[in-house]
Amino acid sequence: MTIIKSHTGVWIANGNEAIGYAALHAGVDFFAHYPGSPVNGVEPHLKHLNLQHNRGIVFNDALNEHVAALSAMGASMAGARSMLVMKHVGLNIAADPLNYVGYSGVRGGMVIIVGTDPGANSSTGEEDVHWYAKQFNLPLFEPTHIQEIYDTVLEAYELSEELELPVMVFVSGLVCHNTAPLQPRLADLKDKQFGFSPNRAKYINVGESAVKNHRILIEKIALWGEQQKGAKLYGKGDASTLVITRGNTHQHVLEAVELLGLSDQVDVLNVVAVYPIPKSFMALHLPNRKQILFIEDQDGFLENQTKMELFHLLKGSVHGKDLVPAYGEITAAKVTDVLAKFMGVDYQFNALDALEVPERLGTFCEGCPHTSSYFAIEQAIPMDKRVIGGDIGCSSLPPFKADWLLCMNAGVGISQGMRPFLPHQSIISTGGDGSFFHAGLLSVMNAVQNNLPLLHVVFDNRSVAMTGHQVSASITVDYQKLLEACGVDSFTEVNAFKPLEISEVIHAKEDLLGVHVIWISGSCALIPDPVSDYRRANLYPEIHPEKCADCTLCYETLACPAIMSNNQNQFEINLDRCMRCGVCYEICPNEAIEIHQILNPNHE
Ligand code: SF4
Ligand code: SF4
Repeated sequence: MTIIKSHTGVWIANGNEAIGYAALHAGVDFFAHYPGSPVNGVEPHLKHLNLQHNRGIVFNDALNEHVAALSAMGASMAGARSMLVMKHVGLNIAADPLNYVGYSGVRGGMVIIVGTDPGANSSTGEEDVHWYAKQFNLPLFEPTHIQEIYDTVLEAYELSEELELPVMVFVSGLVCHNTAPLQPRLADLKDKQFGFSPNRAKYINVGESAVKNHRILIEKIALWGEQQKGAKLYGKGDASTLVITRGNTHQHVLEAVELLGLSDQVDVLNVVAVYPIPKSFMALHLPNRKQILFIEDQDGFLENQTKMELFHLLKGSVHGKDLVPAYGEITAAKVTDVLAKFMGVDYQFNALDALEVPERLGTFCEGCPHTSSYFAIEQAIPMDKRVIGGDIGCSSLPPFKADWLLCMNAGVGISQGMRPFLPHQSIISTGGDGSFFHAGLLSVMNAVQNNLPLLHVVFDNRSVAMTGHQVSASITVDYQKLLEACGVDSFTEVNAFKPLEISEVIHAKEDLLGVHVIWISGSCALIPDPVSDYRRANLYPEIHPEKCADCTLCYETLACPAIMSNNQNQFEINLDRCMRCGVCYEICPNEAIEIHQILNPNHE
C-alpha cells in the first residue's frame, strides 16, 4: 500500500493538473487515454511531470478508448497502477471491456477518469454516463473542487487495490478548467512486484464462471455501498429541508443557500461517492425532514438510487427532476432560481446572473487546411446536389458545413447507408485523421466488404488537433498502402492548400460506384512549422482594391478570418492574423490578390 505523508507547500492547479499530480503521487505506472475535452489537459501535464521526476511512466496515446481501456486493464492485471482517461462519449467506446472488467478484477490500482459535459460545451451531446457505473458495477466518485479531485484520485487507488476493482472518477468541464490552491500529499512509493498469475476462475469468463463472477461483483459492490461514507453534510443537521447534491451543483447550492438567507432552514448533503450511494451515511440524515430536494445536473442519478435503496426513509415530500431540468448546464443562477421557488423566497435576479452571451458560430483558424478543403467541396458540387456527412473534430468547428454531426465516424457510417437510396445526389463523407484511425478505417473496410458505394474525404491535418495536438497516426502509418490493402477502388492524395485541385478530384469521383478515398493533407496552422515560419517572415498577400470585383468569394465563401472588410467597404488582409497559406491567392477569380516577397535589406 502507498504511504501518504503530508506536505506543507500549497500549489496552484486546475482540475486536469490536479489529476496529473495525483497520478504522479499515487505512483501510476501506466497511462492510457483517448484525448477529449474537458480532460485533454491531463496527459500533457502528466507527461511533463514524468519527465521532470524521471518516473518512467508508460504512456499509451491510444487510437480509441476501447484499446485504451484494455491496455490499462492489462497493466493493472500485471500489478501496475494504471490510469485511463477519456471524455464522456468515449465511455461508450470503452464500454465493452469495462462491462466485464469487474468480473475478473484488477491487481494494481486502476482509476478511470471521465470528463463530463453538461451543457455540451465541448461535445456533440451531453449524454449522462453516470449510469455506466451501475452497469459496470464499479465505484464512482464525483469530486466538486480541485483539492477534492486530487484527494479523490489518490484515495481511489487505495480503494481500487482494496476492492480489486477499477474505480471511476467523473470530473466536469467546470472543475477541469477551474484553478485553485492545491495541498499535495507526497507519497513514498513502495517497490512493486509486477507479474501475472494465470487464474482461470478469475480471468476466463464464460457461461457458469461468468455468472459466478458477476454475482461476486454485485455482492462486493453492494457491501461497499452499505459501508462507504463518501458524503458530507453541511448545515446544522436538523433543518426541516434537506438538499441533496453532487458534482457541479454542490458549490452552486451552497452559494444559493447563503445568498437566499436559508442557512437555518436548509441542510445540504453532498454525495461524492455517487455510486453506489453511501447508504448507511445517507440513512442517518434522511429521516425527520419535512421536504427533500435533489439538485443534480443531467439525470436524477442520486434521486433514482435513493428512491430505490432508501425509499422507506423518505417520509416528507421529495422533489428533484420534476423541478430541476435534466438537460443543459445547471448554473448557479438556475440553482438559485429553483431553490428560491422551492423555499418560497422572493428573489429577483441580479442582471449579472442572467447575462446573455451573444451566440456565435464557430469558425476555422486563419490558414487552417479545412477552410480550403470545405471551400473545394462546395465549389465542386452545387448545394442542391451535395450531401456532406460530418464528423467530430476541428473539421466540424463551423457547424453548418456538413449536413449532420452526431458522433465519431457518423460521416462515413451514415453515408454508406444513405447512398443506395439517393442515386441522384453526391454523398460525401468527411472526417479527420484522428477519427479515421479511431474507427473510420473499419467503416471504410465495411463499405468495401459489403460493396456499398462510398466517397470518403479524410481531412488530415497531421495531428489530433481539437484536443491539444496529440500525435496523429497519419505521421507513422502508410495510410495509402493500408487503404489499398483494404481494397478501396481508388486512393487520391491532394494538398489541402490547393483548393482547385481538390475540387477537380472531388468532381471526378463524386458519382463513381465503388469505394473511393480522397486524402487531403495539410498541417494544422497551429503546429509550429519551418515552412510556415519562412512564409510569414518572407511573404505577404495583398488585395488590390482596383482589381477586386467584390465577388465575396474570399471573404464570405472561403471565410478566412484574416480577410476583413475595412471602413471603405473594401476587402483587406490583416497581416497579423494571416498565416500565408496562399489559398485566397489561389481562388481569387480576378487575380486581385498578389503575394509579395519581403525583400531582405541585407541582400538587396
Ligand atoms: S476573391 Fe478576389 S475578387 Fe473576390 S472579393 Fe476576394 S479579392 Fe475580391
Ligand atoms: S494567405 Fe489568405 S487564406 Fe491564407 S491565411 Fe492569409 S488571408 Fe487567409
